[in-house]
Amino acid sequence: MIISNFIDGNFIPPIENRMMDDSNPANGAHIAMMPRASALDVDAAVLAAKRALPQWSALTMIERADWLDKIADALEEIKEEIAQTESLDTGKPISIARSVDATRSISNFRFFAKFARSQEPLIFEMSDATNHVHTSPLGIVGLITPWNLPLYLLTWKVAPALLMGNCIVAKPSELTPLTADLLAQTLQRIQLPDGVFNLVHGLGPEVGQAILEHPDIAGISFTGGTATGRIVARTAAPLFKKLSLELGGKNATIILDDANLDTVVPGAVTAAFTNSGQVCLCGSRILIHQSIYDEFCKRFVEQVDAMIIGDPSDESTQMGSVISMEHLQKIESYIDLAVEEGGEILSGGSRAMTGPLDSNPDAAFIRPTVIGGLSHLSRTSTEEIFGPVVTLHSFTTDDEAIEMANCTEYGLAGSIWTEDAERGKELAERVESGIVWVNTWLHRDLRTPFGGVKNSGVGREGGRWSLSFFSEMTNICVKH
Ligand code: NDP
Repeated sequence: MIISNFIDGNFIPPIENRMMDDSNPANGAHIAMMPRASALDVDAAVLAAKRALPQWSALTMIERADWLDKIADALEEIKEEIAQTESLDTGKPISIARSVDATRSISNFRFFAKFARSQEPLIFEMSDATNHVHTSPLGIVGLITPWNLPLYLLTWKVAPALLMGNCIVAKPSELTPLTADLLAQTLQRIQLPDGVFNLVHGLGPEVGQAILEHPDIAGISFTGGTATGRIVARTAAPLFKKLSLELGGKNATIILDDANLDTVVPGAVTAAFTNSGQVCLCGSRILIHQSIYDEFCKRFVEQVDAMIIGDPSDESTQMGSVISMEHLQKIESYIDLAVEEGGEILSGGSRAMTGPLDSNPDAAFIRPTVIGGLSHLSRTSTEEIFGPVVTLHSFTTDDEAIEMANCTEYGLAGSIWTEDAERGKELAERVESGIVWVNTWLHRDLRTPFGGVKNSGVGREGGRWSLSFFSEMTNICVKH
């Protein structure tokens, strides 16, 4: 398969004709050739977006909401293809690609279409004047997204950006370009006006950087690692571009003394290892009250040991590969570090045996790994690994739990497990995180604000926060 950039409604090869390889991390097999585009392609995409902007932004929000529904309908028709493609490109189990990636990619469009229809004009009356809040698009926006939930995270930005009347230049991760290409094919099929959505494939420091630097791109919505987020901020902020940064996390799962282990243990396993731990919201530090620590560890390790790791296309697989051999080596280096720091490997810690893939040196499988005995301040316990590795820690008081939860540079997400929901909620208010779940994990209402505090990000997405990011609000004050 050969994929191309999608610019001005057409699939076109990169101007400098450089191509690169896309492979399946579950077996190392080549799956596609993709553009290694350059700043020239970004220029062409921006030009197309510029031409499309006047007409697209002139539609009413309801007309654009109709387009979002049309996109959702069209994606629905290829839902299984989206899931299969995402599983192939990322190595994630097909069951997750269906239930999480494909489902949410479609519902992102549905949600924002419906949300738009519920919006009321913002009007503030004074005794002698009326203020009308006027919303206009930012213009051309750059969307840069990571590999862990490729289409899910791209559409989370595309839907509100389109809704608010912007034209888009998007760059998916070079490791997972295929479902973005499917989206582009879909938009071409339903005849979204040319130039409204443009896709440029390539490397972060080349295509990504060119998007950040382009003077005609008014806003950047970026999801990725904190280190890259710093580069994004450093480049785009002096150009006064509007910026949304959704960055890394090292999220705490806090288990209080009154928690019911029958429900908590499976909840903590899911929070730790969904998508091989490669969800920014995964609970990779588990803080357990001392009184239940031993029992929790025993049951947690039993359940982790029973996880089915293997061929992502197998319906029974619970954990597939990680994203690449390079990422696997990074994860292994953290497991080595954990041992150096005095940690004890309670489960996993080595490359996975995966049946037919067993002898393949290019299959990026690692067993879910549980580590005990580390200080909560160790590097292993505070740095983002973004893989199937969790550390276990015990605490004795709620204050200590909060101090441990808040000890990293990150503040993206967390969860608290207790039989007393009120106590859980009160404690949640003290966790320095953009989102805290009580007795659940990854339970999302798309109307709510989503984003990190501290080094996990700047700004919020979701519901009205996405609409606000992708628009300029001005006030028109009319004297009576
Ligand atoms: P990266 O930061 O490496 O990459 C994210 C995107 O940025 C990719 O498209 C990448 O391109 C691009 N990029 C890299 N360098 C530059 C640059 N100089 N200028 C512009 N763009 C650039 O993240 P990963 O893809 O490795 O994703 C994992 C990270 O994402 C984790 O830290 C995770 O926590 C975070 N994340 C955060 C979420 C949130 O909502 N807060 C959600 C999901 C993930 P390329 O792939 O070509 O390098």
